[in-house]
Amino acid sequence: MNSVAIAEMTAPIMVGVVREAAPGERRVALTPTDVKRVATRTRVLVEQGAGESAGYSDAHYVEAGARIVDAAQIRTQADLLLAVRPPAQPQVLRRSSALISLGGRDAAITEALAARGVLHLGLERIPRTTRAQSMDVLSSQASISGYASVIEGARLLDVLLPMLTTAAGIVRPAKMIALGAGVAGLQAIATARRLGAVVHGFDVREAAREQVESLGARFVFPEVEVSAEGNGGYAAAQSDAQQEQLRRALAAHVAQMQLVISSAQIPGKRAPILIDKQTVHGMAPGSVIVDLAAESGGNSSLTRADEIVEENGVRIYGPTNLPSLMATDASRLFGANVRALLEHLIDADGRLHLDPADDITGALLAGQAATPTFPLAA
Ligand code: NAD
Repeated sequence: MNSVAIAEMTAPIMVGVVREAAPGERRVALTPTDVKRVATRTRVLVEQGAGESAGYSDAHYVEAGARIVDAAQIRTQADLLLAVRPPAQPQVLRRSSALISLGGRDAAITEALAARGVLHLGLERIPRTTRAQSMDVLSSQASISGYASVIEGARLLDVLLPMLTTAAGIVRPAKMIALGAGVAGLQAIATARRLGAVVHGFDVREAAREQVESLGARFVFPEVEVSAEGNGGYAAAQSDAQQEQLRRALAAHVAQMQLVISSAQIPGKRAPILIDKQTVHGMAPGSVIVDLAAESGGNSSLTRADEIVEENGVRIYGPTNLPSLMATDASRLFGANVRALLEHLIDADGRLHLDPADDITGALLAGQAATPTFPLAA
């Protein structure tokens, strides 16, 4: 277990909202509404322009009780930094500080930060429990990805999603399937239904069938044994042979669809390949696959992260950061999740409590330990 020396923090601690540096990242980790709440228990610094690309001005943050500072000041003065993404170069961060950001599933990030003396509280490590639901950034951002995937897919399609009856004739509704019916897949199903498509869903978890059907979509049953129930509501990985069987069985269904939204994931593993070249060749030219699993390798063997690949007239798009396209609401939800976490970790007097025995904090600290100088809860 890595040990990170955190300087004794005097209450109230100083929280700092960082301006994102990653290319294409338009979200901000805390919005002015959250700052207003958080500022009742801590002091809040906001890096100049941090919320600009998400539609939140420096003036809004000042009104909410924050102080605007430059990049160097935030890194030297804040005890607890808040960011959407971890910095590419941990050496810009102050030793003995803590960082709340994404990157919690990448041990190399947490290790690089620990080597710099920064405690990383990776948001993906928050347990998917009822108690931690308000802090669940994976769910809030996956919902936006699911919605945005249909909007982006509709834009790439050469056909319309809804049925149209016009004087010039009838346009038939497009058929869509969501492969993977977790948080993102279910939101994609709901969105495609609202846009008038004929919607199907598939997942290897039995529980997903009822959820797909309750949204008015048809659950697809491939003619093979596919059930792969894992722990904590997640799916389990399948063997190579099972995956191949599933691909062949799904191909017949996929061939009927104009829009495929895939979001099948196994936490901590490469995404399962559900669509190979042979399946794509069975699809009608003009069809579109939006692969939300692109960041973890893709559900299609042809997916390339953040690119649109064309194969046999089928477009395969593998976006890795759709929530950033809808940065205002994505930040609103992300910020509300981070604020709930801050309210869990910081008491009314502005003291930071990092209690490893607490199930949420313990999960965040996984693999790391704060040194005895760290002010733990009594
Ligand atoms: P995820 O992003 O890990 O995976 C997305 C979906 O892909 C999952 O539904 C999974 O079953 C599916 N999948 C994996 N392998 C597949 C394959 N070979 N073929 C087809 N589908 C495959 O999961 P997620 O969306 O983050 O969450 C999944 C589930 O976790 C939710 O539906 C819910 O039941 C549970 N959850 C619970 C809470 C809570 O209690 N607070 C919060 C969030 C999620």
